[in-house]
Amino acid sequence: MPKLSSEHQYCILCGNDELIPMERYKAAHLCQCLKCHLVFSSQQPTSNEIETLQKGKKWKDHITDDAYRRYAHILDRFEHFRKNGRILDLDCSHGEFLEMAKERGWEVYGTADTREALEICRSKGLEMYEGALNVEIFAENTFDIVCARNILEHIVNPNEELKKIRKIIRSGGLLYVTTPNFNSFLRFRLREKYSIISYPLRLVYYTRRPFKRLFKMNDFRIMETEASGVSISKRQIARAKSTVPITEESDFIEWDEGLKESWLSRFQKKNLNPVFSFLGIGDFLKGWFVKP
Ligand SMILES: [Zn+2]
Repeated sequence: MPKLSSEHQYCILCGNDELIPMERYKAAHLCQCLKCHLVFSSQQPTSNEIETLQKGKKWKDHITDDAYRRYAHILDRFEHFRKNGRILDLDCSHGEFLEMAKERGWEVYGTADTREALEICRSKGLEMYEGALNVEIFAENTFDIVCARNILEHIVNPNEELKKIRKIIRSGGLLYVTTPNFNSFLRFRLREKYSIISYPLRLVYYTRRPFKRLFKMNDFRIMETEASGVSISKRQIARAKSTVPITEESDFIEWDEGLKESWLSRFQKKNLNPVFSFLGIGDFLKGWFVKP
């Protein structure tokens, strides 16, 4: 059957034209590239679909102590890359991460798509720019560090965008990336009901191999990748069809005020995280990529 014009003809990562539809994930239009194994939506959303999505974007201002601890740990490790002291967080939500970086003396910059996020971040005194991937406004070699947390899954031209991002990082600087792991324990368990799989919210689903390949292809040195993070509590499984955007932080954010993190989910996180990470079936891929 001929492909519709709104469908991808080639793999968005490696350009191969052998794409096999994934029947089980039909609702999200998923296909897989036979060559690089990337999973992505063969369907390109219409501008209407994207607009509706933007309007529905919901964030909570509150992040828990766990998230702060994790941010602090990441920022500790960022110190190794501090030279000019500038850091950019792409699509920085409500700027919690940047606020913490600022407290540590970083010169912080953020981007966001929605007026709400821009206003909230600006009210916190953060330097903000409109457009999550609006990086061309920055001069080349500007940043010690660029963070691309949970945006890769929305990008259907990753090589192109990565080239632009690479330019604004100084030589020896870091690109820190997180994105949902398609090979996560939860996806194997929940299959098409896994809430991460959601069209048109997410269009690209990485596993470790294509994740590494993308950054190698774009001249980054892979310092470290891991597939960690556990969120197997019952309430998240029950919420599998929820429309609330699930991000790396969701595990730590109490979307429903009435629900507190249970001792069981804390236990699971503490004890299963190292195992899942070792097996590569954690919920999130995290990568540390250096521009040589
Ligand atoms: Zn491919």
